[in-house]
Amino acid sequence: MSSRRVVVAGGGAAGFFAAITCAQAAPDVEVTVLEKGPQFLSKVRISGGGRCNVTHACFQAREFAAHYPRGEQALIGPFNSFQARDTVKWFESRGVELKTEKDGRMFPTTDSSQTIIGCLLGEAKAAGAKLILNRGIESVTKRPEGLFELRLSGGETLDCDRLLLATGGCRVPALGQLGVSLGHTLEPPVPSLFTFHLETPWVRDLAGVSVEAVEVSVPGTGLRERGALLLTHWGLSGPAILRLSAWGARELHGCNYRFPLRLNWLPHLGTEALAAKLQSRREAQPGRLVVNTPIAPLTARLWERLARAAGIPGDLRWAALSRARQHRLVQQLLRTDLQVTGKSLNKDEFVTCGGVRLSEVDFRTMESRICPGLHFAGELLDIDGVTGGFNFQAAWTTGWLAGQALARECRPR
Ligand SMILES: Cc1cc2nc3c(=O)[nH]c(=O)nc-3n(C[C@H](O)[C@H](O)[C@H](O)COP(=O)(O)OP(=O)(O)OC[C@H]3O[C@@H](n4cnc5c(N)ncnc54)[C@H](O)[C@@H]3O)c2cc1C
Repeated sequence: MSSRRVVVAGGGAAGFFAAITCAQAAPDVEVTVLEKGPQFLSKVRISGGGRCNVTHACFQAREFAAHYPRGEQALIGPFNSFQARDTVKWFESRGVELKTEKDGRMFPTTDSSQTIIGCLLGEAKAAGAKLILNRGIESVTKRPEGLFELRLSGGETLDCDRLLLATGGCRVPALGQLGVSLGHTLEPPVPSLFTFHLETPWVRDLAGVSVEAVEVSVPGTGLRERGALLLTHWGLSGPAILRLSAWGARELHGCNYRFPLRLNWLPHLGTEALAAKLQSRREAQPGRLVVNTPIAPLTARLWERLARAAGIPGDLRWAALSRARQHRLVQQLLRTDLQVTGKSLNKDEFVTCGGVRLSEVDFRTMESRICPGLHFAGELLDIDGVTGGFNFQAAWTTGWLAGQALARECRPR
């Protein structure tokens, strides 16, 4: 081999970012991206409903890292080197403007993932990276002198000095086998970011109702989240549920997605404040039916169902509400206990937690601590973020760090 050769396994977000970074920083190095599928960046294409939620408008490394149920500690250092602000600048300096939505998610102003794909493909080609489709790496061996020997689909072999594995999430352990064959450990894959199935009829009857700020928790665990909740015809969804599913991915998998769930519909009020509110309602509107007079911000339909679930008869007026019934109503509003009986995907969005064990990787360079010359980036690692652009940011950051390190290691000395 005349010039040094870097092979990037996987033509997704992390692989492309690493390949571009390396090829731009070290033009003498031969950078080849091998993609086993018929298309590059196929997940970028379908991401964010076709709009690609590129990153999140949060520009402080520690705060950003707190959005990763797995990977939080490991990512603080990397985000100090390349964070959301750098992603925004990176794309802007290449003619792609990003905009921020109310909830902090950032998208291209074109609202099209094609803009991101076009930019990444253009940059990779301009930097001289070789882009090869329909060539999966089937196995890899490391020769004693340090070269990696790759066996590709189609039967050919290819040698390289440095190998970057950016082959994406390990939904099944077989997808992480290249790393394992070079001595790495896979944390077992389990789903993250899913919605909850409930059989409770009154919850399903409320399909379509959303509540802006609810607290959801799993009794007996430390799992607790606040945020918007959506009632669906199969159970519960919305940001609070998705976040709980991500933080509890392993625990909830451990109980086969059957667990008790507690909802506090009015988390801004304590027991006493709520009792005082009910008391003043009783005094101000003694003749009104309890089930017809909701406490804000609960909607009329939701209030009626909650009151009925607390055993309040439909014809009961505030003046006749006994202490015992008022107590039950307070309990219901602050501690509705439900039973989750399963899970389903969030809009076909597979996010897996699990992957290459983080302690086996040096997060300054993304190089393996077990196999010198081997690097990792993206979702193949045991890193996953909540929704909102965090998963792509982990791919950009780890890809950038790996690309920089590969360029440094391969430059002529
Ligand atoms: C429907 C959907 C929507 C999403 N929306 C968002 C969003 O808006 N914002 C966000 O932050 N995250 C989103 N995510 C998550 C995000 O897409 C991933 O975190 C991100 O794509 C991970 O990038 P990656 O490069 O590590 O892996 P991937 O994008 O999965 O790329 C890995 C590539 O490697 C290839 N490959 C695998 N094995 C081999 C092999 N042996 N040899 C060669 N090639 C191989 C695969 O074919 C694939 O193309 C979404 C995910 C899904 C499924």
